[in-house]
Amino acid sequence: MLVLKKEFFDTIVSQCLREFPDEACGIFAGKGGKVIKVFESANVDKSPSSYLMEPKEQLKIMKEIRNSGLEMVGIYHSHVASEAYPSSHDLELAFYPEASYVILSLKDKRSPRVRSFKIVDGRITEEKVKIE
Ligand SMILES: [Zn+2]
Repeated sequence: MLVLKKEFFDTIVSQCLREFPDEACGIFAGKGGKVIKVFESANVDKSPSSYLMEPKEQLKIMKEIRNSGLEMVGIYHSHVASEAYPSSHDLELAFYPEASYVILSLKDKRSPRVRSFKIVDGRITEEKVKIE
């Protein structure tokens, strides 16, 4: 289960709306599935159908997370026109089996939907998202 404070949910919703119609992305840091900090990242793909974090920026974020004693709880990105479900491209980019892959769908911009998945060896398992 992924536990997300309402303020963090609002943070990623506004980032994803700001980057619309391109996908937006970033990293959740925390402990045991609970998000404690949100790191927004640029999408170097600048695409409405894919995302890629700038590798140096991603390494910097991951280092900062380790140095603050937290874990990389998840990687999030938006889907601007489709459901919050991993695409085949997302599966190819899922390098971290212990991380949650969180997708925010803006298919209905007035009510963004968030879902979270574990992706291990290309197998997708959905987990619960608790917004509190
Ligand atoms: Zn995607």
